[in-house]
Amino acid sequence: MLDAEIYDQIRETARRFAEEIVRPAANDLDRDETFPTEIYRQMGALGLFGITVPEAHGGAGLDTYAYAIVMEELSRGYASVADQCGLVELIGTLLTRYGTPEQLKHLPDILAGKTRVAYCLTEAEAGSDLSNVRTIARETDEGYVIDGGKLWIHNAPVADLGFVLASTDPAAGHRGMSIFLVDLHAPGVSRGPKEHKMGQRASQVGALNFDGVVVPREALLGPKGRGFHIMMSVLEKGRVGIASLAVGIAQAGLEAALAYARDRRQFGKPILDNQGLQWLLADMAKDIAAARALVERAALLIDHDKPATSASSMAKCFASDMAVAQTANAVQVFGGSGYIRGFEVERLYRDAKITQIYEGTNQIQRTIIAKELIRNGA
Ligand SMILES: Cc1cc2nc3c(=O)[nH]c(=O)nc-3n(C[C@H](O)[C@H](O)[C@H](O)COP(=O)(O)OP(=O)(O)OC[C@H]3O[C@@H](n4cnc5c(N)ncnc54)[C@H](O)[C@@H]3O)c2cc1C
Repeated sequence: MLDAEIYDQIRETARRFAEEIVRPAANDLDRDETFPTEIYRQMGALGLFGITVPEAHGGAGLDTYAYAIVMEELSRGYASVADQCGLVELIGTLLTRYGTPEQLKHLPDILAGKTRVAYCLTEAEAGSDLSNVRTIARETDEGYVIDGGKLWIHNAPVADLGFVLASTDPAAGHRGMSIFLVDLHAPGVSRGPKEHKMGQRASQVGALNFDGVVVPREALLGPKGRGFHIMMSVLEKGRVGIASLAVGIAQAGLEAALAYARDRRQFGKPILDNQGLQWLLADMAKDIAAARALVERAALLIDHDKPATSASSMAKCFASDMAVAQTANAVQVFGGSGYIRGFEVERLYRDAKITQIYEGTNQIQRTIIAKELIRNGA
C-alpha cells in the first residue's frame, strides 16, 4: 500500500472535482446524452486518467486501491464520467503491459483526454462468450486486413483509436485471437448510430464495422494469438473499477435520500422521524459499506500480486446488485418525486442497472466464483 496521505489526497482531488464540476452537470448530460468533452479534458489535466499507469508513461503511478477510490468519487458525481476513467484505465494498463515503444506514444494524448479510445470485444454472436468472436484479421505481406463488426462499444460514435479483438487463426478458437490498434478514421471503418440507453446516457455507445481495414504489422498489441489472454489479464482490475463505480452510484443515492428524508414533512413531522424509513436508510448504509469492503479487498489482492479472480468477481457482482437494490430504495424514500425525471435518484436507479451487465454479466461473475470455489475449495 502507498502512504495513507496519498489516498487522502487523490480522494480529495476526485471528490472536489466530482462535487464542483461533475454532479451539477449530471442531470443535463443525462437528459441531452452529451459527450462531456470539456469535463474529460479537465480530468486529463488533473491527472484523473491513468491512475495505475506509471509516471514514466504519463500516468499517476498509483495502485488499484487508489484507482478504486477515484472511481467511487467520480461516480458519486456521475457514473458516465467515471466510466470514461475506467475505460482509459483499462487501455492504459494494456498499453503499459504490452505496448511497443511506438504504441506507447499514444498514451499521453489518451491520458490527456485528447485521443478517444474504444475497447472492441463484443459482437452480435459473441457477448458473454467471447471465444465466439468472428471479426477476422488476415495476414498479408504488409500487415493485416480486418473484416467484421462490433456491437455496443463504449465511445464508438466518437472514438479515434480502437483496441480490436479479432481472430488471426479461426481454427484455434480463443487461442487464435489477437488485439490490434486500429485508427478509427481509416478507410473501411464505419460507425453505427449512437444507441439511446436506459442510463449512463452521456457515455456514447454504438457499433463499429470493419470492411477490409488495412493495418500495419506494428498494429498488433502483444504476441499474435494471445489476444484473448491479454484481454482477460486486465479484467480483474476492470471489475474492481465497475464495482467501485456501483458503490459511488449507491452512495450518491444514500446522500440524496437522507437529505430528502430530513426535509420532507408528512403527518406534521419529517419523514425521517419514522423508524420504517430509518431502517431503510440503515440498510442502504450497511450494504454500501459491505460492497466497499469487498472492493477494497479485491484491490489490495491485486496490488499485492495475490490471486484476485474470485475477489474481483465477488466485488463486481455484489456491488452492482447492491447498487440496483439500494438506488431503488432511494427512489422509495423520495416517493412519487423519485419517479420523476430531473430528480437525481431517478437517474441513479437507471445508471445502476448496466453495472450488472457490462464487464461480464453477474451470471458470468457467479460462474467464475463457483469455478474458483470448486477448484480451490471453500
Ligand atoms: C452500455 C453498454 C456498454 C458496453 N460497452 C462495451 C465496450 O466498451 N466494449 C465491449 O466489447 N462490449 C461492451 N458492451 C457489451 C457488454 O459487455 C455485453 O452486453 C455483455 O458482456 C453481455 O453480452 P450480451 O449482451 O451479448 O448478453 P448474452 O451473452 O447474450 O447474455 C444474455 C443473458 O444470458 C446470460 N448468460 C449468458 N451465458 C450464460 C451462462 N453461461 N450462464 C448463465 N447465464 C448466462 C447473461 O448473464 C445474460 O443475462 C457494452 C454493453 C452495454 C449495454
